[in-house]
Amino acid sequence: MLGWAGGGDRLGRMRYVEPVFRPPSEAESYLLPVTTGCSHNRCSFCAMYRGKRFRVRPEREVLEDIAMAKETLGDVRRVFLLDGDAFVLSAAKLLPVLSALKAAFPSLNRVGSYVNAGNVLSKTDEELRSLAEEGLRIGYLGLESGDPDVIAHCDKGATVDEMVVAVGRAQAAGIRMSVMGLLGLAGAEGSAAHARATARAVNRMQPRYLSLLTVSPVPGTPLCEDAEAGRGRPPSPKEALRELRWIVQGLELTGTIFRSNHASNYLPLAGRLPADKTRLLRTIDLALAGEIALTPEFLRGL
Ligand code: SF4
Repeated sequence: MLGWAGGGDRLGRMRYVEPVFRPPSEAESYLLPVTTGCSHNRCSFCAMYRGKRFRVRPEREVLEDIAMAKETLGDVRRVFLLDGDAFVLSAAKLLPVLSALKAAFPSLNRVGSYVNAGNVLSKTDEELRSLAEEGLRIGYLGLESGDPDVIAHCDKGATVDEMVVAVGRAQAAGIRMSVMGLLGLAGAEGSAAHARATARAVNRMQPRYLSLLTVSPVPGTPLCEDAEAGRGRPPSPKEALRELRWIVQGLELTGTIFRSNHASNYLPLAGRLPADKTRLLRTIDLALAGEIALTPEFLRGL
């Protein structure tokens, strides 16, 4: 999954291994490191944790952090577990952390984590339900693409089918899932197939939240090396917009909050699906016709 630089947020730089990433919707959350880095750390487009060796923090350290946060912050409503896939921890390791958070923060109403398919599939339904009951209520999963060839090429570490099953099982257990797709990941040539397959995979998932971000080749990643070597052409802003339109057009969702207003996108969009589908498509059409200005390249962020 792509992430967003969050810094130490409200706790300054206390016991964080920088850089720290979190989803935009966790901007107000207390960020609690339970792991460092990403257990997979191989996706071709991602440089977020390349400088960090994956490690699980000892429970003693995590519990000390919670006590410190209680002293510094008083009460908090939301907690986000760091780092790249804190959900890799077994239920036996996560449950005491969730219990300590509940005990420390009486107003706590949700704990979130980045989630990989394997993190979910390695847990039983009962374990997933216990985690949700103990407060783990939202997981952020990078689908990136519904196209199996694109997923294999970017070394995602899970198949599309596995990601679909993981989202279904997590949601059935009470963990709301926020799924991310990456515009431009298949280059200009693979754009139409990537869009069609991504819409199909998202339809099978029926996630509570869906965000689409736009890929940018980050130096030091295999994706950037491919781009520099001329292997595949990244889509132009207009081609990325057309890809966005194909995906939105193909979505058949029953109750999803949709966002493509991340700093990496050329056109910020937000709405609820299915209610806002026609409005979203009309906005994309206006942008394609040049009647709405796109975010210029120099203002796009990762
Ligand atoms: S799973 Fe892939 S995209 Fe997500 S943090 Fe790890 S390397 Fe990056």
